[in-house]
Amino acid sequence: MATQQRMVEAALHPVPHAAEASRSSSTAHVIALANQKGGVGKTTTAVNLGAALAMYGHRVLLVDVDPQANATSHLGCDPKAVGGSVYEVLIGRRPASRCVVTTSWPGLDLLPSTPDLAGAEVEMVSLLAREHVLRRHLEELHAQYEYVLLDPPPSLGLLTVNALTAAHRVLIPVQAEYLALEGLSRLLQTVDLVRDHLNPELELLGVLVTMYDARTRLSAEVAEEVRRHFGTLVFETIIPRSVRLSEAPSFGETIFEYDPRSAGARAYARLAEEVVQRLQGVSRE
Ligand code: ADP
Ligand code: MG
Repeated sequence: MATQQRMVEAALHPVPHAAEASRSSSTAHVIALANQKGGVGKTTTAVNLGAALAMYGHRVLLVDVDPQANATSHLGCDPKAVGGSVYEVLIGRRPASRCVVTTSWPGLDLLPSTPDLAGAEVEMVSLLAREHVLRRHLEELHAQYEYVLLDPPPSLGLLTVNALTAAHRVLIPVQAEYLALEGLSRLLQTVDLVRDHLNPELELLGVLVTMYDARTRLSAEVAEEVRRHFGTLVFETIIPRSVRLSEAPSFGETIFEYDPRSAGARAYARLAEEVVQRLQGVSRE
């Protein structure tokens, strides 16, 4: 705990939301990260936003819903060595509570993924209410966490639809690159369809500009275009392009362990504050 405290101080001071960190008897805000494009920062955001929320004293569960298991390995957990994963949960072989593992970052737990999750998408097709499977299995965990973050694969397939059906909010990371907005109307249509047919509670939490390179005009132009499109839905926090953020996964560490003083760590800490603010007053009792 002492180490964590030092990291908190290094990343930010003072600790803004510590006072309201222990919402007792709450049930979780479930947030799905979504963008069918790969490489836009979904997993990096899931891991480091999760770590930042935990740093502020919240109890956080990250659910890795991607067969590539990037979030699982980013958190230092070997997908080949896990006892139970989202796959076993989805096919009803194990309860979710028996698959959750703690991570090296206090307050952040993980429901890991394994490559066999790819098979679940096929196996679930024949199930009744197949879009609700993840939601049904995660509900038993809601009381134990304040935030549950879902990290789906880069597609709009059944796993992503399951994540959107299980979520209360969607966070859309958008890479500050050429064609950043491409495909977003399909994503928003999917969110609308899920809201209309499967999950009436679903709302957008916000759009996050990631991998912003302050030295390029393109990044500034893309950020501006995203703001023109989405207005106040866009988070004020922008995630900078940072080598430290891209190095951290290979060490199995969050950015707060790998380089708590880096610009990336500060940005994810600020994002966590914004997320908490946006959800303030939204009760899930
Ligand atoms: P997704 O989950 O959307 O596919 P990732 O989070 O895995 O995207 O990011 C794709 C790649 O970009 C990874 O190698 C990751 O380490 C790197 N990356 C993510 N965010 C940043 C950033 N802000 N700066 C630099 N590299 C980043
Ligand atoms: Mg990913």
